[in-house]
Amino acid sequence: MKSYPLTHLKTALVLAAFLGFVITALPARNNPETELIPVSLRIAPADRYPVPALGDDAPLVSEQVRDNWTSIEIRSGDNLFTIFKAVGLKAAELQAIVDIGKDVAILRKIVPGKTLGLKISKSGELDALRYDINALERLLVTRDADRFVAQREISNPEIITAYQTGRISTDTPSLYHAGKKAGLSDNIIMKLSNIFQWDISFALDLRKGDSFALIYEDIYVDGEKVKEGEVLAAQFQNMGKTYTAVLYEDEHGIKSYYAQDGRSMRKAFIRDPVHFSHVSSNFNLRRLHPIHNRVMPHRGIDYAANKGTPVIAAGQGKVTIARQNSASGRYVVIQHGEQYTTKYLHLSKFANGLRPGKTVEQGQIIGYVGATGWATAPHLHFEFLVNGVHRNPRTVKLPDAKPILAKNMTDFRNTTQPILSRLSSVAGQTSYASALGQSSNDGG
Ligand SMILES: [Zn+2]
Repeated sequence: MKSYPLTHLKTALVLAAFLGFVITALPARNNPETELIPVSLRIAPADRYPVPALGDDAPLVSEQVRDNWTSIEIRSGDNLFTIFKAVGLKAAELQAIVDIGKDVAILRKIVPGKTLGLKISKSGELDALRYDINALERLLVTRDADRFVAQREISNPEIITAYQTGRISTDTPSLYHAGKKAGLSDNIIMKLSNIFQWDISFALDLRKGDSFALIYEDIYVDGEKVKEGEVLAAQFQNMGKTYTAVLYEDEHGIKSYYAQDGRSMRKAFIRDPVHFSHVSSNFNLRRLHPIHNRVMPHRGIDYAANKGTPVIAAGQGKVTIARQNSASGRYVVIQHGEQYTTKYLHLSKFANGLRPGKTVEQGQIIGYVGATGWATAPHLHFEFLVNGVHRNPRTVKLPDAKPILAKNMTDFRNTTQPILSRLSSVAGQTSYASALGQSSNDGG
């Protein structure tokens, strides 16, 4: 914990008292740019920012050590007017900034959660303002005598490839848990699950000992990681089978994932019509139990999820039924080509505009999880039929995914080979770690 000298506490108190005033006054000039509903403003708590020692020119608000910039975390309902007012800046200064015109138009829609930087002189005038548009782009407004000028600063990012491995275990029963333990961000975990969504049911079919390895981009600006880029290659070992995917950009500049042999990772059906992150983890734990022998309950697969969880179409197709009966509750049937049919039961409601005859795309929301019909708790009951017969989508033979064009095959092999061999060495480390983990478990 950081310690705070008394002077800082005083500052904090003054600040708190100052901010205690909920500003209700309208701007001096009735300009539409600034005439927004003033709402209370909160400055980021002092412990989020290092507080410098205070000198004679102690400002009213807490400051970042660097460059005398005051960082203000934008909250819901904040706008430039409320912020200027709260920190004691003049309405005329705000007007001078607004007068710059379209270059500062983005300041009309400052986004909650982002940070606004203000540089205020000893005499309490605004010297500069900065706003991070995104991780790589910043708007900087600086004083030039009596007016302000705006410029956009584009950072020169440095892309570093990173790799990571993870493993499904009793402690980390889901991809989310295993990914977090491996230090992956939510963003990368989602990307990883999207890559394999046609092959692996992350909601139902993960097993203890399943493992993954991936290589992805970390984007740095000034030595600081600002975000992640693409997953370049990934491997997932699921129930004894290894799936590998690599990112490849075709001659039209379209990037997609392919298996090592050039088949597209995209297939006719997504494994889980409910995103794994919504499926109860108790459900996962139970399924991880080695003795648990999963049967197909009443010819379908159940996904335990909260009421209201979105249900998506497993594949592109045409809605043939969207109605309600006493057993299935609200249910949807989708016909995919000649042979395949999927059914989604016990929905709490249908997606807006969904009705028989409508075409749906793969991944499109068709309804929401519920407990209508014969259901004791909210869940999705999903059925997959081939030529009218119930089948397990995991074991049924599905149409092959489109391969890469023959003319691109040589380029595909040449460009993906280095990253794939690196992936295999990263994945090799997982197997090694898994082996160590298992032997120590056996000994314990
Ligand atoms: Zn069921």
